[in-house]
Amino acid sequence: MTTVDEPQHEQHAFEADVTRLLHMMVHSVYSDKDVFLRELISNAADACEKLRYESISNPRLSSDGHEPGILVALDEEARTLIVEDNGIGMNREEMIDALGTIARSGTKAFMDRLDAAKTGEKAELIGQFGVGFYSSFMVADRVDVISRRAGDVEAAKWSSDGKGRYEIVSVDPGQAPARGTRVVLHLTEEAKKYTNKWTVEKIIRDQSGHVPVPIRLVEKAGGEPSQVSDGAALWTKQKSDISEQDYSDFYHGISGQYDEPLANVHFRAEGRYEYTTLAFIPGSQPFDLFDPDRQGRMKLYVKRVFITDEAELLPRYLRFVRGVIDTPDLPLNISREMIQESPVLAAIKKGVTSRILSSFEKMAETEADKYSKFWDLFGAIIKEGIYEDLERRSQLLKLARFRSTASNEATRSLADYRDAMKEGQSAIYYISGSSLEQLQSSPQLEGFRAKGIEVLLLTDGVDNFWPTNVANFEGKPFKSVTQGLADLDAVVGQEDSDESARQTPPDVDAFVEFARNLLGEEVADVRVSGRLTESAVCLVAPEHGPDRQLEKLLQGAGRLQTVSKPILEVNARSKLVIDIASTHDQAFREDAAWLLLDEARILDGDKPANPRAFAERQARLFALAMNRDI
Ligand code: ADP
Ligand code: MG
Repeated sequence: MTTVDEPQHEQHAFEADVTRLLHMMVHSVYSDKDVFLRELISNAADACEKLRYESISNPRLSSDGHEPGILVALDEEARTLIVEDNGIGMNREEMIDALGTIARSGTKAFMDRLDAAKTGEKAELIGQFGVGFYSSFMVADRVDVISRRAGDVEAAKWSSDGKGRYEIVSVDPGQAPARGTRVVLHLTEEAKKYTNKWTVEKIIRDQSGHVPVPIRLVEKAGGEPSQVSDGAALWTKQKSDISEQDYSDFYHGISGQYDEPLANVHFRAEGRYEYTTLAFIPGSQPFDLFDPDRQGRMKLYVKRVFITDEAELLPRYLRFVRGVIDTPDLPLNISREMIQESPVLAAIKKGVTSRILSSFEKMAETEADKYSKFWDLFGAIIKEGIYEDLERRSQLLKLARFRSTASNEATRSLADYRDAMKEGQSAIYYISGSSLEQLQSSPQLEGFRAKGIEVLLLTDGVDNFWPTNVANFEGKPFKSVTQGLADLDAVVGQEDSDESARQTPPDVDAFVEFARNLLGEEVADVRVSGRLTESAVCLVAPEHGPDRQLEKLLQGAGRLQTVSKPILEVNARSKLVIDIASTHDQAFREDAAWLLLDEARILDGDKPANPRAFAERQARLFALAMNRDI
């Protein structure tokens, strides 16, 4: 919505999401208001890095010879704080786009999470997430952004009180920076401490000390600025000269996430190609981790010049890793399009991926608690690699941890599983579904439990796909307990196998035969079960093809043309089944067979196929039980 007063003087309304974010900022749930400064400085630094990059192909853009830099200017009397950079700048349209909308997908996800969070959690959530430019309105009742795009003559001013509208006016070029952006905060009375030099200097050092652009501070416009930070790239320093705090500050700056990193991987490679990597494993999940559009966020530098953060520098299943890769072995003027094709980068990607994965292995060996936290946060993402990255599949399988019938925590590795396998057990058994509780009470598990055979309980979305894709782990195939025959007889288990108990009574055999004929439209087969010990019935999938869970999923997504019929398994030792089988009333046997099928569906989390017929059959049985006619 735009109303034009005169051609160069425009009033605009913020996009609805911005208004929502601003409202949150002003009624700040943020206890730590200092963060506005790190956000403005990070934007200024980004702008300087973009200019450096664009100048490679268009040197005229920075032909004045000024080194990129950020100046923070304070004015106690006017009660203003200014952050000015000589970076790429913005023209009028760019200002409308950048400062009137929210482009980052993570921000929306963040706001939704925040709305849903309880008061106590809010502060913590907020502390973890960089909210960007709009955080200025926590401390200012008016913000002016005066900017000139590098290479342009015209300059414009964006101005807002953060209450739903902003205006854009042209400004006299003499009033604007020669190039870049000046953000002027008209501070509120409560925020006047941000005109104090010592206060601001400390905040800059603490929050932005590792921004790769030098920062200067001046108390009064026209005064002599002093340097607060030299803009040296942390990753080029020796590890021994870097403290944990330095790493953590740098991580905050580069990721815009304010949790404590779980670990970092910092190394210099000097083989065929030379490169330096500083990568971080975040300490919490980024908000857009499961957003299908989310790309990796590693930054690529060539000889310390920022090139892009949009190249796929790591495989997708490492998209939570944040950091930088810097190499002198690519041409500075490599186009962003060429990057993806570059064999140099492919080699670097491979090298960095290996180092990161081996750092996970090391963590698993030496810091079990940390590894278990790591796996809780990112395990579901790493498992995507099991079917995406054939080359590293076995390495990734070794990293994986699972919940199982032996552990409610995701701590079991496949090696643990292998070591606990029973004599005669030939497969790694699993069951997948969305809820742990439902899985734990699945009838299909009963026989496995009785024999003491461990079953992996898989609850992540990706778990529906990789087990069918991975042939085996160290020669042992993965097998769903909801599929095919459960050959539990071969396994020597805890259960005392009493031969006579396992003979199927002839009545039951006859009933199974009867049900097979009766239910033939609905099921592929009816057979005596090898996996049930308590429940009367369950459904399983045929030996080949998707297991029950995957089939349902594909069907729900409209990805299956024909659905294969399930197999109804009957527990020959169930008292209910034996009693039904010994009855000779034809009508009763029919009702019972249909009801058993519906019961199996319900146990599987589904509905009876025909609710009306189900209700009628049930009513007939109730009537029988109560000994009267209906
Ligand atoms: P983010 O930095 O994550 O993109 P912000 O809310 O901090 O989100 O900034 C929004 C956008 O405004 C930036 O992406 C950038 O395009 C623009 N912007 C903000 N500050 C500057 C600046 N100093 N120079 C140039 N562009 C800027
Ligand atoms: Mg920003």
